[in-house]
Amino acid sequence: MRCLLFSSRRFEHEFMDRAAATFDQTLEHTEVALNAQTARLAEGFPAVCAFINDDVSRPTLEELQRAGVRYVALRSAGFNNVDVEAAEELGIGVARVPAYSPHAVAEHAVALMLTLNRKLHRAVHRVRDGNFELDGLLGFDMHGKTVGLVGTGKIGAATAKILAGFGCALLGYDTHENPALHKLGLRYVSCEELCADSDIISLHCPLTPQTRHLINDDAIQSMRRGVMLINTSRGAVVDTRALIRGLKSGHIGSVGLDVYEEEGDLFFRDLSNTVMQDDIFARLLTFPNVVITGHQGFFTREALQAIAETTMRNLSGFEYDNVPAENQVTRELLATA
Ligand code: NAD
Repeated sequence: MRCLLFSSRRFEHEFMDRAAATFDQTLEHTEVALNAQTARLAEGFPAVCAFINDDVSRPTLEELQRAGVRYVALRSAGFNNVDVEAAEELGIGVARVPAYSPHAVAEHAVALMLTLNRKLHRAVHRVRDGNFELDGLLGFDMHGKTVGLVGTGKIGAATAKILAGFGCALLGYDTHENPALHKLGLRYVSCEELCADSDIISLHCPLTPQTRHLINDDAIQSMRRGVMLINTSRGAVVDTRALIRGLKSGHIGSVGLDVYEEEGDLFFRDLSNTVMQDDIFARLLTFPNVVITGHQGFFTREALQAIAETTMRNLSGFEYDNVPAENQVTRELLATA
């Protein structure tokens, strides 16, 4: 099947092209992001491939349908950027990559924790500058600290396993409990209890209407003073303005972000020669106790290969009407998310 891959980045060409050849799919790349204005580029393609920050809302889907597109293959697990109901109404099939490497994201979440705790982001600059002072770099033992995981699915569970190895006590909050995690000593509690009793809170739930701004002023106020907050899930799970208030008051001790509410205008491109237009993001960058990465949690060789292969399998699945059930993005999935 011919497929136009939107928001294509150099880093993925090799993986996507190799998988396309294996699955006998014809792929064309465009760096252009998918939205209602650009959808017509897909004229003549039965399928398009969309990335995390592409806009797959109703107006885009309508334009895609007009252009003759029947399938959307997401090269991501999250599908919060898709109007699933509109896709079903318009008869456009949508598939995603539900699991590629939970380890990639879990390891990145833990990397953010260790960086913030031991202040590696500051230490590296000091040493480069010939400053070997230790003042201001004091960390804490991870061993014995309580980590609260919001969302204990594939990535939350992988994070729990790493942290259990450190000797952390684990709390979990999820709408569906994962019994396998009891063996690690993880205790399920309410969101309120998790906020009140955790030294570190790490977010691993999807972005849904229920989780949008789950971390708001009230949640932050209920957290321990000095708490470390890590978000590798989706930016809008956190109210960024509330986060800044929490940092300014000193209630939040440190923040590690791999995602940001308005990342669509920033991430995955080189803006180093331009003036930052997002004042909220600019403010976040000024805190010494905030580390931000540009949505790179998934960015390992193993994950890229798995994403490419599942995306191509989904494209051939569209042709033969056998997309694996767990890869299909449907109203039922929306209801259980
Ligand atoms: P998953 O579906 O395996 O797990 C998500 C968990 O969140 C499930 O256990 C679910 O029950 C729980 N959940 C759903 N709604 C909830 C709610 N209201 N409150 C508490 N828990 C809730 O998904 P996953 O593979 O572990 O991925 C989690 C999220 O990580 C994805 O949705 C995506 O947004 C994000 N992600 C980020 C990156 C990155 O590069 N930073 C990469 C992949 C995924």
